[in-house]
Amino acid sequence: MVLNRRNFLLLTGVGIGTLTLGTFAKSTLAQSLNDGSEGPFELPPLPYDYNALEPYIDEETMRFHHDKHHAGYTKNLNKAVSQYPELANKSAEDILRNFDSVPADISTTVRNNGGGYVNHKMFWEIMSPDGGGEPTGAIATAIVDAFGSFEAFKEQFNQAGSQQFGSGWAWLVLDNNKQLKVMGTANQDSPLMQGMYPIMGNDVWEHAYYLNYRNARGEYLKQWWNVVNWTQVNKRYQQAMA
Ligand code: MN
Repeated sequence: MVLNRRNFLLLTGVGIGTLTLGTFAKSTLAQSLNDGSEGPFELPPLPYDYNALEPYIDEETMRFHHDKHHAGYTKNLNKAVSQYPELANKSAEDILRNFDSVPADISTTVRNNGGGYVNHKMFWEIMSPDGGGEPTGAIATAIVDAFGSFEAFKEQFNQAGSQQFGSGWAWLVLDNNKQLKVMGTANQDSPLMQGMYPIMGNDVWEHAYYLNYRNARGEYLKQWWNVVNWTQVNKRYQQAMA
């Protein structure tokens, strides 16, 4: 059964006054996980609180983005693969890497929702309330080698984000020759579908910034660097190079 707030209260027989905020947070989390997990793919919980990225990304945006948008991609991906056990046994990343073998009747759904599922999993991971500042470690050196400086890379990345017409993503990828490259994709298309590995990406769908930044995508792109988790970006880079 789905544990919602109402039957949670009925089951436990306690009033609102005795419930702590933590209990509410847990029951909300259980609900959002249930929503996405009626299939092989599970909605991963946010690795921090909804309000942890403020003031750069506001709590309401994070709630809708994770609990509605990411949950929706997860649910739709699960529904699409339910008729195809050979896909249900693969990782979502592997499904996108071998996109040509996805059955035609679900290919659009998998492209949009498999992409949305994987892209957002990456997105929550590469942000942190302790993020921001200059990159460190191997990725710092690789960025300077590829783009000349961190500032030049940031400018190219933000440009990819502002030039993406309509919905999509700005990416730093490792291409087929293991070279770092900045690119944009439309909608939820993943660089994995083109044989490239997404080291980091910024979501430039309006749902990612419109509540707080309204139409000022450029300002969102600029402020977003304050939450980039370079430790995690380094991990992804080293995994991709290995
Ligand atoms: Mn999004």
